[in-house]
Amino acid sequence: MASTATALVPPEVLARYEAVIGLEVHVQLATRTKIFCACPTSFGAPPNTNVCPVCLGLPGALPVLNRQAVEMAVKAALALNCTIRQPYSQFARKNYFYPDLPKGYQISQYDKPLAEHGWLEILVDGKRKRIGITRVHLEDDAGKSLHEGFRDSDRYTYVDLNRCGTPLIEIVSEPDMRSADEAYAYLNELKLVMQYAEVSSCDMEKGHLRCDANVSVRPRGQQTFGTKTEVKNLNSFRFLKQALEYEIARQIAVIESGGVITQETRLYNPDTGETVAMRTKEHAHDYRYFPEPDLLPLRISDAWLERIRASMPELPAQKRARFVEQYGLREYDAQVLTLSRALSDYFERAAAASRDPRAVANWVMVDLLGALKAEGKEITESPVSPEQLAELVDLIVSGEISGKLAKEIFSKMFATGESARTIMEREGLRQISDAETLSRIIDEVLAANPKQVEQYRGGKTGVLGFFVGQVMKATRGQANPQLVNQLLKEKLG
Ligand code: ADP
Ligand code: ZN
Ligand code: MG
Repeated sequence: MASTATALVPPEVLARYEAVIGLEVHVQLATRTKIFCACPTSFGAPPNTNVCPVCLGLPGALPVLNRQAVEMAVKAALALNCTIRQPYSQFARKNYFYPDLPKGYQISQYDKPLAEHGWLEILVDGKRKRIGITRVHLEDDAGKSLHEGFRDSDRYTYVDLNRCGTPLIEIVSEPDMRSADEAYAYLNELKLVMQYAEVSSCDMEKGHLRCDANVSVRPRGQQTFGTKTEVKNLNSFRFLKQALEYEIARQIAVIESGGVITQETRLYNPDTGETVAMRTKEHAHDYRYFPEPDLLPLRISDAWLERIRASMPELPAQKRARFVEQYGLREYDAQVLTLSRALSDYFERAAAASRDPRAVANWVMVDLLGALKAEGKEITESPVSPEQLAELVDLIVSGEISGKLAKEIFSKMFATGESARTIMEREGLRQISDAETLSRIIDEVLAANPKQVEQYRGGKTGVLGFFVGQVMKATRGQANPQLVNQLLKEKLG
């Protein structure tokens, strides 16, 4: 929390330091079945029902690698500009004891990960920056300990092993981020890329995207890194930012008071906005890593890799660039319209159906997103279809309705799902662009206001606005304002 952070250290002291951040992100792959067995990965099944001898780690059961999990992991790695390790990557056992880990070890990858040396570009304060990706590796998930919700939860912890063996990738970044905002932007872009690549839903509430943050601080200008801590339990974007802001300030406060940072794992507490020491840091040797004897090395042939590469959909950065190029959108607008694949698809369908894609972009971003937000709806639930929005925009472009009327019609479309033309025709909301009709109405207005006519002719041309207002009133806002202006000037001049 910013308030907590500034309570720890005054802003001028904060400003003398620079943060260094690297993220370790776990993404659950959207496979139908688990990584080493055929159990379903479905969320919300009754506890301990999606299990079998393999994922329970029963003696004699052997793992069989899920081909789809590998393909998704490769897709993720390619989307993050990584190099797939050749000639093979290798699974490794990471040994530790915990009640939610029945095998007694996690099957992960260690010194030969699936992919390495990638990068992801982020945009912060209008500046682009590349964040290095150290590695992407495959691993299986553990079960869940249930500490509450049972009658005897004060004495017992229950365990649900349904999640055991769910396929994950771990994405480790280089220590390239320098602020909580950059870390936030990185995680956000990572999530978007995974969703576009159809690798994961990245639903944070369901634990499909989990993030640990490594953070250290150093006086500005210093080249070497300071000692880092690892902050866990960051299960929302807001928590990530708050936890980092707190942890950065805490470390600075320790150093400023002459102390040293202990390398340790800390837990974020969202209730207090603070991080607390959880355990001293574990080291690789604590896990007694060794090559997994039950699985062969993982070889991705060139032909397989090319097939996966060819199946890659357009990624957010490419789509943004294309929106700018093809539809003449501003960079910011392209950014907003690609915030989800569903939103970008909506925009493209509407743009394709309209004569003015830029106007469509505005209507989507301002009016549609605004109306959806007010009702707590997603873009996929929009009562106005892309084609209907395009029709509305085109009615403005062709001058059949004014922008002001269009807003009125849009509200009605949103409420009823009817088309713009239907509403326009039924309610007689068409813009009056017929010179004869307008001329007649203007004559009446002028006749009713001789004093203002005299003022205008005497040089007070400002009263023109008054006449336009009167004509609008007489036509319930339907008169074409440009034409009214033009006709008025002709008649008065
Ligand atoms: P460990 O020995 O703790 O496993 P690694 O070097 O493997 O450390 O890095 C783990 C994560 O911590 C990576 O995301 C990396 O970018 C980040 N990291 C490493 N050193 C620092 C540091 N001094 N400050 C902040 N983050 C760091
Ligand atoms: Zn199983
Ligand atoms: Mg490490």
